[in-house]
Amino acid sequence: MCGILGIYSNKPVNKKLFFGLSSLQHRGQESCGITVSKDDSLKRVKGMGMVSEVFKEDNLSCLDGNIGIGHVRYSTDGGSYDYNTQPLMGFSKGEELSLAHNGDLINHQILRTRLEEEGMMFQTSIDSEVILFLIARYYNGDIVEAIKKTMSLIKGAYSVVLLLEDKLIAFRDNYGIRPLVMGESDEGDIIFSSENAPIEIMGAKVKRDILPGEIVVVDESGINSYFYENTQKPKHCIFEYVYFSRDDATLDKVNSYNFRRRCGEILSREAPCDVDLVVAVPDSGIPSAIGYAQETNIPFAEGLVKNRYVGRTFIKPTQEEREMAVKLKLNPLRHVVEGKRIALIDDSIVRGTTSRNLIKRIREAGAKEVHLRITSPPVINQCYYGIDTPSRMNLIAANHTIEEMRELIGADSLAFISIDGMQRATLIRDDRFCKACFDGNYPVDPIRI
Ligand code: AMP
Repeated sequence: MCGILGIYSNKPVNKKLFFGLSSLQHRGQESCGITVSKDDSLKRVKGMGMVSEVFKEDNLSCLDGNIGIGHVRYSTDGGSYDYNTQPLMGFSKGEELSLAHNGDLINHQILRTRLEEEGMMFQTSIDSEVILFLIARYYNGDIVEAIKKTMSLIKGAYSVVLLLEDKLIAFRDNYGIRPLVMGESDEGDIIFSSENAPIEIMGAKVKRDILPGEIVVVDESGINSYFYENTQKPKHCIFEYVYFSRDDATLDKVNSYNFRRRCGEILSREAPCDVDLVVAVPDSGIPSAIGYAQETNIPFAEGLVKNRYVGRTFIKPTQEEREMAVKLKLNPLRHVVEGKRIALIDDSIVRGTTSRNLIKRIREAGAKEVHLRITSPPVINQCYYGIDTPSRMNLIAANHTIEEMRELIGADSLAFISIDGMQRATLIRDDRFCKACFDGNYPVDPIRI
């Protein structure tokens, strides 16, 4: 999980990168950074914290180049430390390069060890540095060849923006696991972004998705597209639509809001329940709860208040702190739930912390019954491609039956959408989504590498 952004313009891009990264903030709140190219050299500012914490008028005004990239980070691989912040920077054959990456490589440890044995000393503990190092090693004036050679070695999920002094490049792994969208403004700015929101807020238009295995180079000669030879059938991460992306994201032809709403409709048919109110766990549960309510003619009600000022940086990965985080983030509305039978709609159950905690508090607030409906199937497998899904040991659904989960969570009933129902909610017939966290079919086998 992370957000990346790149802009090629004939005017300074610092403010656009700042606002664009702010609209990708949901993809990572731990750290962020911007690199721009100005006067044949690259300038970078990065740090720990959210976009508005790291960037102020003075450091932003120094970044006044016309081509730039940016990154917001949510650590999945490599700890949450200052030295792991992105964009990364490096030098090769007298040129400066800067790179921002979203996704996880599954073979980076092997590559890293090999490179270390050859004498390379890494400055970070993240997989992204392996990508930058390999590109720098193979760069010999032809950046596309260097990227293709790098792509032949790295395995897993990567959407990348790469900045050279006079070029902006975007490329995507050959399954297209993590998203990458391209936009263009009326003034001719070219934008690459993890989601369409930054493109739209800049007043530009989305042109298309970068295709799996595609390398797009923007420079003075225009926009040129190349392909890595070994491109596969797409396997876009379905969890982007379940939870991760914003409601307004349309990635690889699926709109997250519509997907979530349809999941609610389908789930209401697969798992109806006799209740007075449909309540969403905000935010990603809201469209699904609206879909569930409209399909069943049961009133939708706001039964939980969300505190939007609790950043993830604040949440440490211990169970106690996770429980506290849920309490801080969501509070039941007693006046709405009191005396009512509730269908509570959430997008996923990972460890079970959120639902157990919420159901207990919704009952304390006076609800008579709480029936939990989940708009994704049980998460039973770890994600190796960049979503922060823990190992099977910590996944409640990997170790319990649905009835055992219901009891542990304390719901009156519990049901999940089927894998087939979730696929139907995409409105796309062929199976071009990675659903490994639900069905264990990993497009790139993490075990054998
Ligand atoms: P849990 O409390 O561990 O069962 O996590 C499920 C809750 O966290 C749901 O309310 C989801 O909206 C949210 N969620 C799902 N996946 C993730 C993720 N990878 N990172 C953070 N939150 C998540």
